[in-house]
Amino acid sequence: MVISDLPFTKQSQSCFCDNSVEEKQYMLTTSDLHTTKGGRRNSTLICAPIMAESVDEMLVQMRKANEAGADIVEIRLDYLKNFIPRQDLEILIKRSPLPAIVTYRPVWEGGQYDGNESKRQDALHLASEIGADYIDIELKVAHEFYNSIQLKKPGKAKIIVSSHNYQNTPSVEEIAELVARIQATGADIVKIATTALDITDSARMFQVLVHSHVPMIGLVMGEKGLISRILSPKFGGFLTFGSLEPGVVSAPGQPTIKELLDLYNFREIASDTKVHGVIGNPVSHSKSPHLYNAAFKSVGFDGIYLPLLVDSVEDFLTTYSSPDFVGYSYTTPHKEAGLNCSDEVDPIAKIIGAINCMIKRPTDGKLIGYNFDYIGAIAAIEEGLRALNRTANISGSPLAGKLLVVMGAGGAGKSLAYGGKEKGARVVVANRTLAKAKELASKVGGKAITLAELENFHPEDGMVLVNTTSVGMKPRCHATPIPKKALKHYSLVFDAIYSPKETRLLREAQESGVAVVYGTEMLINQGFEQFEKFTGLPAPKQLMRDVLARNT
Ligand code: NAP
Repeated sequence: MVISDLPFTKQSQSCFCDNSVEEKQYMLTTSDLHTTKGGRRNSTLICAPIMAESVDEMLVQMRKANEAGADIVEIRLDYLKNFIPRQDLEILIKRSPLPAIVTYRPVWEGGQYDGNESKRQDALHLASEIGADYIDIELKVAHEFYNSIQLKKPGKAKIIVSSHNYQNTPSVEEIAELVARIQATGADIVKIATTALDITDSARMFQVLVHSHVPMIGLVMGEKGLISRILSPKFGGFLTFGSLEPGVVSAPGQPTIKELLDLYNFREIASDTKVHGVIGNPVSHSKSPHLYNAAFKSVGFDGIYLPLLVDSVEDFLTTYSSPDFVGYSYTTPHKEAGLNCSDEVDPIAKIIGAINCMIKRPTDGKLIGYNFDYIGAIAAIEEGLRALNRTANISGSPLAGKLLVVMGAGGAGKSLAYGGKEKGARVVVANRTLAKAKELASKVGGKAITLAELENFHPEDGMVLVNTTSVGMKPRCHATPIPKKALKHYSLVFDAIYSPKETRLLREAQESGVAVVYGTEMLINQGFEQFEKFTGLPAPKQLMRDVLARNT
């Protein structure tokens, strides 16, 4: 499924849907929506799941949800121990500071309740009678519920009819058919949650969401479905879930309310917002979303930047080929795949054999690959060497003539080896897989050794060591690519890893009296270049430095 033909703009959305994003807003009972400084540009609600074992604890969570900026809460009755329906619902519904969805999820739909079904439905009827804004009922029993509701005292609640698929995400046709079945029950709001096996699964949900004639919650669960939760407003979703705390979620993959509001500028996402992101695997450690989202906001650029957990670069680019998906950073292990998927490649990136940035050219939609990695890293290393040799009067690069040992032969390794050669260094490539070290060394006229050989590698003193392997990166911070005792032969050590900032390698280098340069320098310098490519505007350098300092 390709989403190049989706109606992404507001104008075209209203051509395809009876209920455009704006129209859908009138259907909400939420009257006091929070607004951000930049102004709210969408009507998608942030819903905080309230999951606690006691009513008191639920009230505390509701207050926190309100303070955090949620619009609505979902009271999960199935989490309550010793639930006394009338008494507890009176308290929860009447004291909720926000509009409430009441959900009593049974085990057979992924919830906690495994008691009597008619008692469960009775509690939901009661919630409606007491004044809940929304009731969530599962598709499997929706007809039964609707039949019985005719006999009970009507409440004001709107009915969300929900369907959860914990295995996969079906085809567009199947999701659309499910929407029709849910609509046929008389639902006020359709809710479909599926499971992401691949990042491209969210595209099918977007396609259905954007065409939906009824208010719809369409979310794809799991880490690979994160994009469906954050971009929900772009496609007119009724709500997205935001947890109160990281990891305390009612379904896998939920971001926190704070992340939605502060990191992803959720209120400012509109149907024409341009989508950017970092393509990698793993990618959740990346600081780039912090960096670019803050920078976009500071200059008023209508863009969002996401972590994109991608298995196949080609599948991702083919699926998200719409003109609104416009720019990507590339990280491990996709820098070479990114180059292979580029329509045109910057000459430097071609020599290095990897890209770290890709832009969709607005005029013809062609994908252009760049490599900015080496610029930032080499400049930072040169600066470090100059600081070491303050008394020496060096003209030209202080790397000229130095022995530069590059650990790693992946994307970053290629950038550093190429950059070092350009500056006149003699390059040695040390890699776990010797064949890759040999291939890179031959390109830069250098020598190849294995990583293990570095322990006793000491042809001269004053060498420069750079780590471009992922050894020592979070969460395996205890690891290091080279024994500490070998570090004393180097004058300076640079580690491309920036998460954590202080790696074990850099800590041991300092303990050995060796100068160090942090990976954050490489990140920030290439970040300036990427920002300028994404936006066409000068990078807000101080702001980007401050954001990075706060997040490393
Ligand atoms: P990549 O293309 O996947 O290359 C990974 C390299 O790490 C390969 O040389 C690989 O060796 C080696 N490696 C992986 N696991 C290893 C292990 N257990 N033992 C020994 N060697 C191992 O990745 P990349 O894009 O070059 O990125 C590498 C690192 O640099 C990452 O930590 C990334 O975050 C960091 N980086 C930082 C910046 C920045 O701005 N500061 C920019 C780019 C990258 P084999 O060939 O044997 O598999």
